[in-house]
Order: sequence, then structure tokens, then C-alpha cells
Amino acid sequence: MSILLTGGAGFIGSHTLVELLNGGYDAVVMDNYSNSSPKALERVEELTGKKVKSYTADISDREALEKIFSENDIKEVINFASLKSVGESVEKPWEYYSNNIGGTLTLLDVMRKHGAKNFVFSSSATVYGDPAEIPIKENCPKGTCTNPYGWTKWMLEQILIDMQKADPEWNMVILRYFNPIGAHKSGRIGENPKGRPNNLMPYITQVAVGKLPELGIFGNDYDTPDGTGVRDYIHVVDLARAHVKAIDKLRENPGCFICNIGTGQGYSVLELVNTFQKVNDIKIPYSIKPRRAGDIATCYASPEKAEKELGWKAEYGIEDMCRDSWNWQKNNPEGY
Ligand code: NAD
Ligand code: UDP
Repeated sequence: MSILLTGGAGFIGSHTLVELLNGGYDAVVMDNYSNSSPKALERVEELTGKKVKSYTADISDREALEKIFSENDIKEVINFASLKSVGESVEKPWEYYSNNIGGTLTLLDVMRKHGAKNFVFSSSATVYGDPAEIPIKENCPKGTCTNPYGWTKWMLEQILIDMQKADPEWNMVILRYFNPIGAHKSGRIGENPKGRPNNLMPYITQVAVGKLPELGIFGNDYDTPDGTGVRDYIHVVDLARAHVKAIDKLRENPGCFICNIGTGQGYSVLELVNTFQKVNDIKIPYSIKPRRAGDIATCYASPEKAEKELGWKAEYGIEDMCRDSWNWQKNNPEGY
């Protein structure tokens, strides 16, 4: 039996693949490489010493999915495949709704036809909008998203909940990720954004490597200890391990299980920059810019449910994240 990882060549998918293969699970990857490189899979092979079976295919392509499901014994799917740039989603809403929602609906339809009704979904803390409570528990009401990318996560969660309600044979594990950063300690796989990064850590590492002149910090007048935004950064290897636990959870037939994946610890932009400078002994030039539209002041998880019900807890700290992000970037200044 194999687990299908859609988008398995991406940042979180490739790290999850390593953890699954090292844990003795069998996996098959499909990716259209719209935001990744097949080289990531070669490096996973190198890191694990195992062959990776992969298909170049789109989750919207029903025929390709039929072929994958008929050639493999797949009962479980982890769906990483998604477009994920917040700014781009505002410019191209149709592309985001079509790829993320349309694609996932096609995937779910092929899955049920093949009796594969076990699904792990990459959701996001963005579904809480401007959260009604901090730390955020899973029963915190979902909020208003500020962009189409966020709405695709919000709507897909609802679709999965409704499908599971109508057909209890489905098991849906919805993981709400906080802010994944870091990289595998080998420096062989990591985050590889195309063009100018939107997210904080890849921006910092590209300044560190000399590709960008300075970091802009979006606002220092938030209601936070130093005025800059506070987030729950989580090491991607910890996040990857949460997916291994999610597979184990699926095998207990949980119905619909929704869980935050964060550390429970908030760090400000300035704290992250200062830690990066300290552990890597590199200066990051920065200047304060206006607030970014749609940003919130503070967002961090209550990790209690993950610990109690998933048996998962983050092990790495902010210093590990800063060290491993830089190790990846300095060894791969141009990405893959
Ligand atoms: P990524 O872009 O590195 O990985 C996504 C992968 O999916 C890429 O390899 C891309 O080529 C592939 N893909 C996209 N559309 C596809 C399609 N239609 N068919 C097949 N493959 C397709 O992103 P990531 O950071 O690894 O994110 C993985 C998942 O986690 C995404 O669903 C993302 O929305 C979600 N997520 C990410 C973050 C984050 O900060 N990185 C936070 C919350 C949620
Ligand atoms: N941020 C910043 N400069 C950047 C990118 C991000 O100051 O170039 C800030 C942003 O305002 C937020 C934090 O860093 O407070 C995390 O932003 P990111 O885009 O990485 O994640 P998200 O906004 O999705 O939590």
C-alpha cells in the first residue's frame, strides 16, 4: 500500500517524503512542477537511499489520476498540491480557485471511485482571519480571509467537512499549518521560491546570500512587544513529522480531525532577524516600511490538541530554524 503525495516535490512535500520513507512507509509522488523541481526528488532519494516513484501530472487531470490509482495500491492521499502566493492570488483569482479547489475536487472524485477515502489536507492558520483569540485553539471561529488563496483553504475545509458528514467512510485530517521555515539539516532540500520571495524567511536568506539588498520590515507600530508582527514559526522537519502522525491518525478512522500545527510560541519579525544574525553571524540590513495590506499583528497556535490527540509536538527551536534555513540557502544560492 502506498501513500500518494500530491505536490510532493515542493517544500513541505519533499521534507514529508523523507520522513515517511525513513519511517518505513511507501509513497508515490505526483507533481506538475509548477513551483518545484524534479531535482528535489533526486535529493530525497540521495537522503533516504530509497527510490522514489513519481508521476509528472496535474491534480486537475482526471486521466492522469486514473492511471496513478490503477497502477498503485493507494488508500491515503496527502494533498500538498496548491498554488500558494497570496499576492498572485489577488491578481489571478480564477487560477487559484480553479487549481486549488477545482483540482482538489477532481482528485477527491477519483479517490472515491477507487475506494481511497483517507485524506490529509494542507490547510493554514490563515483560515482564522484576524483571530478571535490568542493562542488560537481549533474551535476558534474561522474568520474572514483577505485574499483568494486564503479563501481556497477556507472553502476546501468546508467541502471536506461536508463530504465526510455525508459519507462517513471518509476520513479527513485537516492540518492548519502556522509558519513553516527551516530546512533539512543536510542542506540538500529546502524552500525554493520562484522570483522575489513573499515570505519573511526566504527574503532574509536571499538578503544574506546577497541576492537582495535589504529586508523591508512591514510595520513597527503593531500592538506587539516591539511593534513588529508576531508569528508562530515552525521547523519544516517538525511539520513533516506531523504528517507521519496524520497518516497514523487516518488509520484510526477519526472521521474529520482538525488540528493546528505550530509550536505555540510567537516571535516578532525583529526577534527572527536578530536570531538569524546571531546564530549565523551575518548582518541583515533592514529598514522599516509601511504595514502590508491584510497583515495581522499576532498569530500563534495553541499546540495542545496536536500533543494530546495527534501525539505530536515540535522539537526544534527558532535557532535551529534560522541555522537550517541559512545552511540550505548558502549551499544552494540559486535553489535547485
Ligand atoms: P510548494 O509550492 O513548495 O509545494 C506545492 C507543490 O504543489 C509544488 O511542487 C507545485 O509544483 C505543486 N502543484 C501545484 N499545483 C499543482 C497541481 N495542480 N497539480 C500537481 N501539482 C501541483 O508549497 P509548500 O510550501 O510546500 O506548500 C504545500 C502545501 O501547504 C500547499 O497546499 C500550501 O498551500 C500549504 N501551506 C503552506 C504554507 C507555507 O507557508 N509554506 C502554510 C500553510 C499552508
Ligand atoms: N514580513 C516582513 N517583510 C517581508 C515579509 C514578511 O516584515 O519581506 C513580515 C510580515 O508582515 C509578517 C511576518 O513577517 O508580520 C511573516 O510574514 P510571512 O509573509 O512570512 O507570513 P504570514 O504573513 O503568512 O504569516
